This record gives sequence, C-alpha cells and structure tokens, in this order.
Amino acid sequence: MTMKRVYNFAPGPSTMPQEVLEQAAREMLCYGDTGMNVMEMSHRSKQYQAIFDETEATLRDLMHISQDYAVLFLQGGATGQFAAIPMNLMTGSGTADYVDSGNFAHGALVEAGKYGKVNVVASSKDDKYAYIPELDASKFNPDADYFYITTNNTIYGTRYARLPETGKVPLVADMSSNILSEVYDVNRFGVIYAGAQKNVGPAGLTIVIVRRDLLGHAMPITPKIMDWKIMDEKGSMLNTPPTYAIYMAGLCMKWLKKQGGVEAIEKVNIEKAKLLYGALDDSDFYRPTARPDSRSRMNVTFTTPSPELDAEFVKAAAVHDLVNLKGHRVVGGIRASIYNAMPIEGVQALVDFMKKFELENK
Ligand SMILES: *Cc1c(COP(=O)(O)O)cnc(C)c1O
Repeated sequence: MTMKRVYNFAPGPSTMPQEVLEQAAREMLCYGDTGMNVMEMSHRSKQYQAIFDETEATLRDLMHISQDYAVLFLQGGATGQFAAIPMNLMTGSGTADYVDSGNFAHGALVEAGKYGKVNVVASSKDDKYAYIPELDASKFNPDADYFYITTNNTIYGTRYARLPETGKVPLVADMSSNILSEVYDVNRFGVIYAGAQKNVGPAGLTIVIVRRDLLGHAMPITPKIMDWKIMDEKGSMLNTPPTYAIYMAGLCMKWLKKQGGVEAIEKVNIEKAKLLYGALDDSDFYRPTARPDSRSRMNVTFTTPSPELDAEFVKAAAVHDLVNLKGHRVVGGIRASIYNAMPIEGVQALVDFMKKFELENK
C-alpha cells in the first residue's frame, strides 16, 4: 500500500502527529500484553484505568493544574458544556456575564439564556466578529455567577491577547481551539473546557477543568452526566467514558511533552503564525480578515480579491496536497488551521503555494 500524507489544515477534527498515529497502529491488535486493543477493554479494567490515570496526569503536568482543580473527561462536546455550565454554576444570583466574540460564544450565551439571565457585556457581532471586543469593566456584573469568554474564536480567527480581570467572579473559558497551544495560568480561571478534536486528540472527548469550590452548586434538573460534582466523584466514569478517544488524547499529550511541553510548542506556534501572517501582510492580493490586535495563532483567516478566486485557491491548494482550507460556511473565504500537530514545514508549503497562486492570478 502506498501512503501519502497531506498537510491537513482542517479546523476540527484536525491533523494529528504522525508519530501518534503510528503508535496507535502498532497497538491496534494488541496493547501491551493484554492481547486486545484499547477499544476492546472494559473501562473498569485495571489496564484501562492505568491509561486513563496517565492521561489525566499528563494533562495536569502539561498545564500545571493543581489539586484545587478537578479534571473531567466527558462527552457531549463543547456544545454540551454550553448547557452544563449554566446548569452547574448559575445558581447564585442566577445571572452570568458573556462576551459575544463569535459563533460559538453566541451559541453558548443563547443556551445559557434557557437557565438564567445572560448579560452580554460586549459584542463584535456587528463587525462580523473580526476582533475581540473591547471590555469595559464598568459593565461587568459583580454579582454574576461567572464571566464567560471564548479564548480563541475558531471560525473568525481571533484570540484574546489579554484576559479580562473579573475579580471574585469565576472566569469560564471555552478553550476548544487553543488549549495546550499556549501557556495559561490555570489559577486565573474558574473553569476551562474544550472539545478535544481541535488541538488535543480525536473527537468524542470533552475536557473540563473546574475549580473544586465550584462543584456542588448544580441545579436540581441537571442530568447526572452533566453534573460536574457527580462526574468528579465517579472519576468521569458514572457511565462508559469515550475510552479510545481518551487513549488517543493521552498519546497526543505525551507527544506534546516530548516536544518540550506547552512552553516549547507555544514558541513554535508563534513562529508558524508569524510566517503565515507575514506572507499575508506582505501581499496586496491576500487580505487577512481578523483585526491585527486580535489575530489567532491557531486559525488564520483570509480572502483573495474575490469569492471565485477563494474557491479556486482552495481547489488548487488541494492539488498540491494542502487540504481543508475552505473557510467556515458562515463566513466564506479561506482558513488555515495550524494547531500543534501542524509542522512549520506545512505552513511553509502553504506560504510557497500562496506566492505561486498570487503570481498566476494577479
Ligand atoms: C468547535 C468548537 C465548539 C464546538 O465543539 P463541539 O465539540 O463540536 O461541540 C465550541 N467552541 C469552540 C471555540 C470551538 O472551536
């Protein structure tokens, strides 16, 4: 069988480190001396519990997560947490502050509105979410049960350069598309959560990191599988967890540790982003769509002079083994997602192709 790998710029599910895929392949028929694949194991077995525990320990190590925080491996995606967050937290004043910085942030605040009162402190919706909105602390509600942000807006390619100061109000962050890509001080947050399929591993796993004092306040209607306190007490195994996705995420985390951890990969990610934005800024053919002060290092969005050329770009790039560059359906244009597993060689290949395409279509 011939094998040709492409550079996959998909936003999620997205490219994985080749070493990880090779290890998973080696372990496909037999994991260790078990005589079976991980996906064939009971989640209650000693062998599987060891895989689970090592994955949690590696994540704690990579993000320097203290024992003041619970780490949960759940299902239902980031979208499930849009509901779980208010159900678990909106039980004090029954209100929460939200920043409307993109499609997913908007979806989260609409969902939260089913469970309590949502205060939208800032929005960039009217400007097609091209930037992170300015935050005016005088609009923050000091009695809010939490303050909600999306640290990286996957569809629009924007990122918070600074975190808001929310005082005693717990900061809740959707980090689905930039967790493990840059250093964050976990202690600044009440809750960090992420669907794994962008920068952690395959789809099916949702990571929730929650400060322990925020457990145990859930609404009585909260389904057991969405109640963080119950899930914590059950070691994320009230029911069958996404066993294989957790194993794969664990392999990716160990790979990241081998690269030098989050501190080291952040430097590489900055270099990758610089290379790509540099090419965009140097050209008058391409137009980056995110405002410079809000640029994402993970999702780089841009356009050519016309939607027709955008489509041609995506098609021609694929011929050169640069795939999944089409922008999200709500915004169009082009988007290159350059998560941890995208090597700088892939970004360089894209930049080289961009120059060639510009020359041919100017
Ligand atoms: C992809 C994404 C989501 C939705 O994730 P699902 O796991 O599909 O529910 C939510 N928020 C952000 C920032 C995302 O990138």
